[in-house]
Amino acid sequence: MSKLSLDRILQSQGFGSRKYCRALIEDGDVAINGEVEDNYKAVVETDGLVLTVFDEDWPYRERLYIALNKPAGYECSRKPSHHPAVLTLLPEQFTWREVQPVGRLDHDTTGLLLMSDDGAFIHAQSSPKRHVPKVYQATTAEPVTPALVEQLLAGVQLHDEPAPLAAVTCVQRGEHQLEIVLEQGKYHQVKRMLAAAGNHCTALHRSQIGGLTLDSLGIKEGQWCYLDQSQLDLLV
Ligand code: URA
Repeated sequence: MSKLSLDRILQSQGFGSRKYCRALIEDGDVAINGEVEDNYKAVVETDGLVLTVFDEDWPYRERLYIALNKPAGYECSRKPSHHPAVLTLLPEQFTWREVQPVGRLDHDTTGLLLMSDDGAFIHAQSSPKRHVPKVYQATTAEPVTPALVEQLLAGVQLHDEPAPLAAVTCVQRGEHQLEIVLEQGKYHQVKRMLAAAGNHCTALHRSQIGGLTLDSLGIKEGQWCYLDQSQLDLLV
C-alpha cells in the first residue's frame, strides 16, 4: 500500500514534468479509477490504480517490465544511427521513464526483447554471470549439415574471445533452419558463430528467454505487453 499525490503519480508514470502534470489534472484530463480528479494535491492509493489520461487507461506501475515482439529494422540503442529506436514502438511516456532494452538484438533480428526502467533488474539480467538460456531461430545461407550442428555444439573460436563458445543445444529445423540455444550474450554471437563455422546467418529470431516464450505472450510483431511476476519468474 502506498499513497502519493496525483501530480507525483502522473509524473512517476512518465506523463511529463510536475508542472505539465499539474496542468493536465487541472484541465480535467485525468481520471482515477474512472472518476475525473482535477485536484493535483489529491492523495491517491497506488495499489490497483488505473489512471485515465486523455481517455486512455494506464495501470499504475511502480516499475515497468515489458516484452516487445521486435520487428526487423529497429535499433536497440537509445541513440540509433541508421534505423528508428525500438523505444519508438512503445508509448511515449515509457521513454520519459527511461525504459531501456535488457540486452540487445541486432537491428535485423526479430523476436522477444525485454525492456524495463528497473536498473537493478536490467543489470541482473544482463550480468555475464547469469546463464539464462536464450533460444534463437536462425536461417542460414548454406544448408545446415550434421557437421555444422556438431561444430556449434563443440564450440567455435571467435577472434576476440579467449575461449571457444558453444551452443547449449543446437537442432536442425529445416534445410536452412537451425534452432540454437545460447547462455552467453556476446556481440552478434549467433551470426559470428555461424560465420566461424563456415555458414552465414541470413535471418535471426529470438523465440524464448529462460522459460518465457514469445508465443505464450500472444503479441504480434511490433506489439508489446506488460510482464507479470509469474512471467518474470520464468526468466531464470
Ligand atoms: N546473436 C546475434 O548475432 N544477433 C542478435 O541479435 C542476437 C544474438
